[in-house]
Amino acid sequence: MVAGDYYDRLGVSRTADDKEIKKAYRNLARKYHPDVNKDPGAEDKFKEINEAYSVLSDSQKRAQYDQMGHENFTNASKGSYGGGGYSGGFNADFSGFGDIFDFASDIFGGFGGGRQRGPRRGDDLLMRMDISLKDATFGLDKEIEVMHAEACQTCEGTGSENRNLKNCPKCGGSGQIRQQTQTPFGNFVRQGTCDLCHGRGKVPEKPCSTCHGTGHAKVRRKVAVHIPAGVDTGMRLRMEGYGEAGDHGAPNGDLYIEMHVKPETRFQREGDNLGTKVQISPAQAVLGTTVELETIDNRKLEVKIPAGTQGGKRLRVSGEGIRRRGRHGDLLVLVEVVIPKNVHGETKELYEKILAFEGHTPKGNGDKKGFFESILGS
Ligand SMILES: [Zn+2]
Ligand SMILES: [Zn+2]
Repeated sequence: MVAGDYYDRLGVSRTADDKEIKKAYRNLARKYHPDVNKDPGAEDKFKEINEAYSVLSDSQKRAQYDQMGHENFTNASKGSYGGGGYSGGFNADFSGFGDIFDFASDIFGGFGGGRQRGPRRGDDLLMRMDISLKDATFGLDKEIEVMHAEACQTCEGTGSENRNLKNCPKCGGSGQIRQQTQTPFGNFVRQGTCDLCHGRGKVPEKPCSTCHGTGHAKVRRKVAVHIPAGVDTGMRLRMEGYGEAGDHGAPNGDLYIEMHVKPETRFQREGDNLGTKVQISPAQAVLGTTVELETIDNRKLEVKIPAGTQGGKRLRVSGEGIRRRGRHGDLLVLVEVVIPKNVHGETKELYEKILAFEGHTPKGNGDKKGFFESILGS
């Protein structure tokens, strides 16, 4: 079944507001809910509707979806929970573009389902990174410092001085303990995680003196991060295995780096496009001209202003926007026509000539100051 893009699935336009999206979703969900609709394919349809709604109902996800397009968005989210265990060592390659968009994994149900028994996977870490709009435009490689737990070197992560573990004496190796409670209604048995081995079922034969038997040590480590061009505020880069160390034999958690793109005065971001402003005189607007402006990476750029350009017009400079792989955004130049507040001498005479030629009479002729001139005190 071809599912179509998320807007098609809900039958709404790309400009639909939250209310329209919610309404469309409710109607469709009612129609295709598997309890109601027994048609073959209704359940798939129901899932597709839910997937679409989970993205379009969240303004941040929706913005990212709009920006990336359906294919990139869904491919990226597939890549993110493909799994692949921790490869050991801190040398894995994290340059994959898909790694940024792992937020999508929480839509589709987290990482690999429920918690497994046995050694516990390390916790994920989240840190925030401020980057400039220029760096978001071109991407950058950056070294960051991460403070996280790694396997203790003294005991190689076992927590045991001689690296040997023994069955937990409290739970007998099951990791679970049963607690009996006597009440007037009878005995109740509760199953809980063993507090001695924390569910591992094993304890160090001789607790390591460096890590006190935990098997972990806090380490400050430098990590090279590749930030691809096109990242935006709220996007998260996932660095697999750079989170907290897992229990001995279990994978590390992941490190998530949440991007925050600092605002810029000269440029505004509009999706993959950058917006900027240029000021020209009335004569430049009338006759056309060439202006020089600086790109976000401080290159000089000549922009042609056609004759008869109106104030408020936006000129498009192709390819000077965000350098997303495959397609670059554009630079949108807003033209502002600046009316001079004071003109003197020859310039004034020329304006007066134009005015007379148009058949108008000048105000504030001769020695008398015009109304606006008086206000401005000139
Ligand atoms: Zn135990
Ligand atoms: Zn140790």
